[in-house]
Amino acid sequence: MGLTTENTQRLLVVDDEVIVVSLVSDALEDAGYQVLTATDSLAALELIRHHQLDLIISDIRMPGLNGIELVKQARSLQPDVAVIFITGFADLHSAKDAIQQGAHDYIMKPFELTEIRAAVRKAIEKRNETAGKSSESQLMRLSEMNNLLFTTGDSQSLIISSLRFAMMQQNADMGSVLYHDREQNQFALITLEGDSRVDSCLPEDPVSQVLAQLTDRERVYSAVIDKRESHPLWRMLAACNEASTAIGSWKTADESMILIPIARADHWYGFAMLGYRTDSSKVGSANLNFLNIAASQLAISLENLALLKEAQISYASLKGLQDQTIELEKMATRGLMSAEIGHEMNNFLAVVAGNLQLLQLHLSRQEYGQIDEHIETINDTLKRMTVFTRNLMDPTPTSSNKESVRFDRVLTEVISFVSPQKRFRGIEIVGPGPCPVTEFQADATQIQQLLYNLFNNAADAMMKSATRRITLKLLLADDKQHFTFTLTDTGCGFDPEVIAKAFQERFTTKETGHGFGLVVCRRIIDNHGGRLHLDSIPGQGATIAITFPTAGTPDQTEASASQTGHLVIA
Ligand code: ADP
Repeated sequence: MGLTTENTQRLLVVDDEVIVVSLVSDALEDAGYQVLTATDSLAALELIRHHQLDLIISDIRMPGLNGIELVKQARSLQPDVAVIFITGFADLHSAKDAIQQGAHDYIMKPFELTEIRAAVRKAIEKRNETAGKSSESQLMRLSEMNNLLFTTGDSQSLIISSLRFAMMQQNADMGSVLYHDREQNQFALITLEGDSRVDSCLPEDPVSQVLAQLTDRERVYSAVIDKRESHPLWRMLAACNEASTAIGSWKTADESMILIPIARADHWYGFAMLGYRTDSSKVGSANLNFLNIAASQLAISLENLALLKEAQISYASLKGLQDQTIELEKMATRGLMSAEIGHEMNNFLAVVAGNLQLLQLHLSRQEYGQIDEHIETINDTLKRMTVFTRNLMDPTPTSSNKESVRFDRVLTEVISFVSPQKRFRGIEIVGPGPCPVTEFQADATQIQQLLYNLFNNAADAMMKSATRRITLKLLLADDKQHFTFTLTDTGCGFDPEVIAKAFQERFTTKETGHGFGLVVCRRIIDNHGGRLHLDSIPGQGATIAITFPTAGTPDQTEASASQTGHLVIA
């Protein structure tokens, strides 16, 4: 018995005359065929059970099972196999009969080797033609199975539907599947017989051990197992308490079974077993190729399902992350708003606290002249705080609070408001001198806020300056369409890098700063159609000029910034 060249058609040569076997096999191997040989029918049957064959060349007269009977059994296992009989003159009749029943050819002994080669070539060609036809119907069956796999959504249903399909196609009375349930991370055994179904889970150990014992071939190719009991997989199931109910129905079944591995590439999913109540010839007629293909389709579907599950899990966790991000963004916005509100409230509270301190001082000195003034400022500030908080709660845009406001008056108010404050002690406020009437549509509270922030920043910038002066100017354009307010300080000035970031939220260079003052200023200027121009010489001071329209359509100039110490914001 020998096995030669790979990847070609596989032939089996059976003859009880060793010399014939060796001659024929040599000649066919030389012609490029893969040749298996046997010198008796039993050895031949063994090979037929375990190897997919294209052609059997068999002697007719052999001890035990004769060639014709051998081929009959071979056909029940491999219906598409081609057959050539080698015959002596005495068996010519039987050979001709066999051809009637589907053998492809016969060759009379003694024969020429060229004759054998020609017959083999012809028989294989003929067989391929018919095999093509039967593979068409197999394709149809496979596409039926594919439809089934595509419409089934979980791995257990996939496995059960495929088992039913295989049982139906092979007319099996019972079927079991042993598989690894990835979701539950356990081995499961399902047995079907008629309408009944028995499920059980098997312990990890015996299954893994038996799987380790199987040969590579057993893991990949479907096979007919003549004696179930002698197979390690079956022995393990029979010995396993957990499996006893599931395989109970097999006890009355025929002793042989078809074992179909559900595997793809190097991934093993399970085994399907098909059995028959009594008739072992049905087991033999199984089309193992078809079952192999069907099992690998199932394995692909299981793989796809697992990939789909993974994708679903990734999607769910991405979605979770996205929700978290949205929540974080919301929180950040809330945080930003609270910081802005805190900043504004601090300004108001500083004024109230400062005036209360002054009140206390004057009262302790029994100087009553300025008491009314302080009380008025506190009242004013409280009113502004009320307006500010009302605006916060008011969903309508801030511009809706605009009315006709005189900028020069608001400016005077703010100067008198800030000058007594501790922060402004020692700071000289120069100007604006006699103010032109600068009337525009504005929200007075916002304009106060704007000026207050600018005054505070100027005071902070001059903390270390030798000369501490704020110079104010208010000019009405000749056409009276715009007016420009200018505030110049003698502070540290803006560094070019600071200019680029000064109007961003949370940007501050101060130890106790919030980084919202200029953001609020910018928003207020925007809200009034104004334009800000910043001029600064680091170390010498800064000038902020704001131009507002007195009437008509607001300017829509884009904001621009440069590193040279100028900034214009529309
Ligand atoms: P904060 O006052 O909380 O720092 P602002 O937005 O009002 O926030 O100011 C941002 C930064 O701009 C300040 O930290 C400071 O570095 C700079 N800045 C603002 N006004 C002036 C100014 N008049 N002179 C110099 N730098 C200033």
